[in-house]
Amino acid sequence: MPELPEVETTLRGIAPHLEGQTISGLLVRNPSLRWPVPPEVARAEGQRVILCRRRAKYLLVELQRGGLMIHLGMSGSLRVCDPGDRPRKHDHVDIVMDNGHCVRFNDPRRFGALLWWDEQPEQHALLRNLGPEPLSAEFSGSHLRRLSRGRKGAVKNFIMDGHIVVGVGNIYASEALFMSGIHPARPAGRVSAARYEALAAAIRDVLAHAIRRGGTTLRDFVNSDGNPGYFAQELLVYEREGNPCFRCQTPIRRRVIGQRSSYYCHRCQR
Ligand SMILES: [Zn+2]
Repeated sequence: MPELPEVETTLRGIAPHLEGQTISGLLVRNPSLRWPVPPEVARAEGQRVILCRRRAKYLLVELQRGGLMIHLGMSGSLRVCDPGDRPRKHDHVDIVMDNGHCVRFNDPRRFGALLWWDEQPEQHALLRNLGPEPLSAEFSGSHLRRLSRGRKGAVKNFIMDGHIVVGVGNIYASEALFMSGIHPARPAGRVSAARYEALAAAIRDVLAHAIRRGGTTLRDFVNSDGNPGYFAQELLVYEREGNPCFRCQTPIRRRVIGQRSSYYCHRCQR
C-alpha cells in the first residue's frame, strides 16, 4: 500500500509534468473507483495547472478554478506517458495535457479515488478534520503529549490515527516506536513528555529518510515500464519476527494491535 513517502515521491514525480500545463482532456475509462468519479472532474478541461501539492495521502492538483484530488488507495500509481500509448490493464484515468503528455492512473484494486473540489481543498470532508503533517512545524512531541492525556488505547494506534497526525502508516509506526524505545501496546496516556519528543523525532526521521530514498526512483515516472516510487525499505523491526533485534539480539516479536501486525523488541521497548 502506498504510504506517505510513496505519495510524496509520486507528487515530486508528476508535479514537473503537470505544473504550468493546460489540461486538454480527462479520459475516464472506469469511473468505479472507491467512490464513483464525479462528472465535475470534466471541469478540469481547458484549465491550467497552478500547483500540485499533497495533504496527508491526497494529491491535490490546483487549477485556475477548483481542482482534482487523487488518492492512490491500496494499489494505485500514477505514471507519465504518451496519451497514444496503449492502456494497460487497470489504467482507469488519463489526465491529458496540451504539451502531448499524460498522467495515467492505474489501480488494480480500485480503492483509489479521483475527486473534484471547488473552493479550499482543506475544507473538503475528507481533509477537514485531519491532524498536522508529520514533517511540519505543527507536529511535535508536545502535540502528541497534549492529545494523548487520558487515553488508554495503545500508543501505536494513537500515532496511526489521522486526526492526531497524518501519514504514519503501519510500517513507519512500528519503526518509529522501536527507534524511540516505546512498546507499541503501551497506553498512549502513559508515555512521558520526553519519550513523546523522541517518538516525534523518530517519526520525522523515518519518513524523511524514506522520502529521500524515494527520490532516487523519480526517473521511473517517465519510463514506460516504471513502477513509480515504491521502494524497498531498510527496516529495523517491521516483518522481522523471530530475527534478532539489531540492538540487543533478542528475537523480534509480532503482535496484533488494532487489527494490524506490530513488530517490536520486548527488551528494548517499554
Ligand atoms: Zn532489542
